[in-house]
Amino acid sequence: MWTKKLRIVLALTALLVAGFATTSVVSYIVAHDSLSEQIAETTLPLTSDNIYSEIQQDLLRPIFISSLMAQDTFVRDWVMSGEKDVASITRYLSEIQKQYGTITSFFVSEETRKYYHSSGVLKTIKEEDPLDKWYFKVKNMRDDYEVNVDIDTADKQSMVIFINYRVYDYSGRYIGATGVGLAVDAVKKLIETYQQRYGRKVYFTDRQGVVALNSTGYTGEKNIHERQGIKKIATQILSSPSGSYTYQNKGHTVYVNSRLVPEFDWYLLVEQQDDPGETRILNTLLSNLLISLFITGIVLLLANLTISSYQNRLEEMATTDQLTGIANRHMFDMLFGHALKSAKRHEGPISAIILDIDHFKYVNDTYGHAAGDAVIQRVVGAAKEQIRESYTICRWGGEEFLLLLPDCNLDHALKLAENIRDAILKLVVNFEDKDISVTASLGVTLYRDEESQIELLKRADSALYEAKKSGRNRVEFKI
Ligand code: GH3
Ligand code: MG
Ligand code: MG
Repeated sequence: MWTKKLRIVLALTALLVAGFATTSVVSYIVAHDSLSEQIAETTLPLTSDNIYSEIQQDLLRPIFISSLMAQDTFVRDWVMSGEKDVASITRYLSEIQKQYGTITSFFVSEETRKYYHSSGVLKTIKEEDPLDKWYFKVKNMRDDYEVNVDIDTADKQSMVIFINYRVYDYSGRYIGATGVGLAVDAVKKLIETYQQRYGRKVYFTDRQGVVALNSTGYTGEKNIHERQGIKKIATQILSSPSGSYTYQNKGHTVYVNSRLVPEFDWYLLVEQQDDPGETRILNTLLSNLLISLFITGIVLLLANLTISSYQNRLEEMATTDQLTGIANRHMFDMLFGHALKSAKRHEGPISAIILDIDHFKYVNDTYGHAAGDAVIQRVVGAAKEQIRESYTICRWGGEEFLLLLPDCNLDHALKLAENIRDAILKLVVNFEDKDISVTASLGVTLYRDEESQIELLKRADSALYEAKKSGRNRVEFKI
């Protein structure tokens, strides 16, 4: 019975938990996916677009200036005529710097390898000087210009974004490099503003994945090939002109949008870790699960109560007689075993009485079956009044009853039987305005050590038979 109940409760729990968990988790996944999709497909690309167009506006200007310088006939003529008047090129460079608000401007001649600056000739470029490496790169490159972040030759303290433009003479021969420089700090501030405005990490890398420009919030390795998390997708990012990606970092999902900025030959990377909405849907999932748990608990409690009450009802139905409410035969078998055990412990005698209503068929035939039922109920009531709580009375058959009297000797049992017989005799059952009286015959016996229930009842039955034979409304005994 218990295992069955446990099984039902467990099955119900499994069903509810599985149902609730599935719907909660599925709705979480759907919400999460649409949020991720929104970040990857819309939010980050839009941020990237905004940043790109703003940075383009800010950085394209110096490229444009440098291009003007490279094509300036004055510069070219001055070089081709032998770089004679240093003051004129210095004036030119300082004018550029003043007019366009750049932090530096320069020209390096291929012929003399002199580095001209607004303040004069700074130095002579040498191939073996690591600081001058940039020039030889520019000299040999195919593109007309490059963007290079480097230490300023004029001011060794500050990092500068240089636009290095190749200069040609009128027949297309390379004659030097010119351009302007912007303070890295200014561009960094720009990135910082974006970072704060959009709450996203913004930085640039070159084609090798080396971070060229970043805001102060940037942490980790300077090459995305070595940076925690993103290193797994670094090659993928750097081999496509644009894309949306995700990677895992310390249990968080990071969304990345990349785009190649051809003017600088850099990748603009915009990153966002999780989303505020993510916490919201996670909280929803948790509260969903909590509510589900609560409901499961309540349902289980109710189920448990219902099953228990049904169980009790069933047990009652299985052990009690419906008409009289006393024990039935099934219950008697159990009680008999129980009584035997306790009697053996106390070593007291056990008596049994069998009672059968006399001429009961007559009652049924004369007054009807319902009247017969009423009589049975009243007879049981009368008998019960005569016996102790600890004695058991059970409905053995139709109008036959069995009394089991633990710790009761034969004398006492006979006296009891006599009292019951007398009580039934005096009983008047009023049914539908008719008074019905009945008598009963009783057979008494004493339990013998080690005998079976059948043997005991057989003897009691034979005593009852004796009572019936001797005229009914009598008590007889057999030992
Ligand atoms: P006797 O004195 O020899 O016992 O005669 P009797 O008529 O009582 O004979 P018996 O004990 O054989 O008959 C029992 C009758 O009781 C037969 C059956 O129809 C009736 N009976 C059995 N159970 C019920 C019941 O629950 N309600 C009613 N009304 N009658 C029942
Ligand atoms: Mg009878
Ligand atoms: Mg009978």
